[in-house]
Amino acid sequence: MHLEAVDTVGVVGAGTMGNGIAQVAATAGYDVVMRDVSEELVAAGFDDIQASFETLIARETVTEQEAEAARARITGTTEMDDLAGADLVVEAVTEDMEIKQSVFEELDAVCGPDAVLASNTSTLSITTIASATDRPGQVLGLHFMNPVPVMKGVELVVGEKTSDETVTLGREFAHDIGKETWAADDKPGFVVNRVLMPWINEGIRAYDEGVADKADIDRGLTLGTNVPMGPLELADHIGLDVVLDASETLHEELGDRYKPAYLLKRKVAAGDLGKKSGRGFYDYD
Ligand code: NAD
Repeated sequence: MHLEAVDTVGVVGAGTMGNGIAQVAATAGYDVVMRDVSEELVAAGFDDIQASFETLIARETVTEQEAEAARARITGTTEMDDLAGADLVVEAVTEDMEIKQSVFEELDAVCGPDAVLASNTSTLSITTIASATDRPGQVLGLHFMNPVPVMKGVELVVGEKTSDETVTLGREFAHDIGKETWAADDKPGFVVNRVLMPWINEGIRAYDEGVADKADIDRGLTLGTNVPMGPLELADHIGLDVVLDASETLHEELGDRYKPAYLLKRKVAAGDLGKKSGRGFYDYD
């Protein structure tokens, strides 16, 4: 499959990442079919896209007409069968191997034989996800960053069986929608989360152990290391459940230096998931 043959992009999952991926693909001119498990979740995905476009219009990054045209290129659905015509599918469902494998098994059955299937997984093995299909050569990781319309980077994750042609398609697609890429081997956490997750967990532990209050931990890291957000604010932004899932995978695969912080587990158990639930380490409107 070459990029010229890609007209329709499927997106599975209309949450934080899925709706962002749908938005950027549609903005670049692709027809997009975005699937989630209920009408409410699909509608919530469209609401997020609308809100994101409003911000981008206010910043004069896109015009109202461009946003309207892009919005019209996205079709929402709850049916996997509606992805049958997709040339490239990006999966962005919950970070759980069983769920991802069942989505890939369904996609493999529904999509045409040439379609390429990508996962936005943060830490899970692309090789293991691909093993649920009969086309492992056409499966790769396309790891977008949050918020997708703003963040430039996409990590290309190369599984054991991923073909060179599939990696080329993934790279060209990412570039075509305005992103920049780097490649990572299929090892836990790839490049970004292997380094980022212990950083976030250490920030949470520093807070829990009273090194400084939370705002000062975030200020220390932003002012001291020139990152745009400190670890607690970034964790809220990513979603504390997503951070915990990623940390648990890394802990299981790479050992104790990746142990999730106790306070992270307690917050997730309490339902304080960060911005998306209205409260995490900080409170949100
Ligand atoms: P999210 O919880 O916001 O959204 C996940 C969505 O997937 C939910 O709406 C859920 O209903 C849906 N879903 C679950 N099973 C489904 C199925 N079978 N078919 C269709 N939809 C289904 O999660 P998110 O933050 O968007 O994360 C999605 C993926 O992206 C995860 O693998 C995560 O690790 C990864 N990721 C997240 C971030 C981040 O900052 N949040 C960054 C990079 C990668």
